[in-house]
Amino acid sequence: MKLVEWGEDERRLTDSVSVLVGSDNGKYPSGNTLVVRGESECFVIDPSVDVVARGGAPVKVDAVLNSHAHEDHIPGNKLFTSARVHIHEDDVSGITTLDGLMDIYGLEGAAREGFERVVVDEFNFAPRPDAEGFGDGAIFDLGGVEIEAVHLPGHTRGHSGFRVGTDVFFLSDIDLTGFGPYYGDAWSDLEDFEESLHKVRDEEARYYVTYHHEGVIEGRAAFLSLLDAFHEVIGRRHEAMLEYLAEPRTLEEMARHRFIYRPHVETHFAESVERRSADLHVQRMLARGEAKEVETGRYRRV
Ligand SMILES: [Zn+2]
Repeated sequence: MKLVEWGEDERRLTDSVSVLVGSDNGKYPSGNTLVVRGESECFVIDPSVDVVARGGAPVKVDAVLNSHAHEDHIPGNKLFTSARVHIHEDDVSGITTLDGLMDIYGLEGAAREGFERVVVDEFNFAPRPDAEGFGDGAIFDLGGVEIEAVHLPGHTRGHSGFRVGTDVFFLSDIDLTGFGPYYGDAWSDLEDFEESLHKVRDEEARYYVTYHHEGVIEGRAAFLSLLDAFHEVIGRRHEAMLEYLAEPRTLEEMARHRFIYRPHVETHFAESVERRSADLHVQRMLARGEAKEVETGRYRRV
């Protein structure tokens, strides 16, 4: 693989860590890829569609780390064929086969077929049957710098952040955007996501890097204020859904009403994401005694 200089779009954070800033500040479908240069090995974390479009990274890549199995975090897995690929053990199946990835989203029928094409054509998907799984707390020693995997599930089962040296923490899709937490896949979980938001608060770093949009956040105070705002979105969605359940409603009605995406957003997965998210909030309401199932598949607030 040839070396590709990124010029101004490579932002140096420390001696060993830099960010390859994706188009439009890493807005989806792109993202902010991390490059870590050690004395013995160099890693890229979550190689984006822009890494593919440019044809490579500024270093010879010995290993790719994927924070989780989602289409936008893995496009470079096909590019760096001679590099090892590591991902949390719970998400391994999402990068070894296309079917495995589709099962993580939980898409079926036409939505599944449509998104399969997008993932292959626009996100460069290629299976990596050689992918190796890691667990929470796994350490990668690159020589002079270490990367530690921190399991932060909820977005997907295996979603992980990475502590790189002492100064950098890669948050991946705890992306601190105004959109809020995404837990709309079959493999997402609201309770796990919220636990991960509590867990990640304890991470001390100089730079916090999100995959999308916010990009590099400097300092703990800025991180905590964005984290709080991000976390509050969950509560706002919950309240809005509870209000809607003043009348008995089905999950399909909740999905059509839209609590996650704005009504004009049309994607292959919007309906499925709305339904899964509504389902998770309704399960929370039932567990808390805030709503009850008044007839089969119909819920009303108490
Ligand atoms: Zn994701």
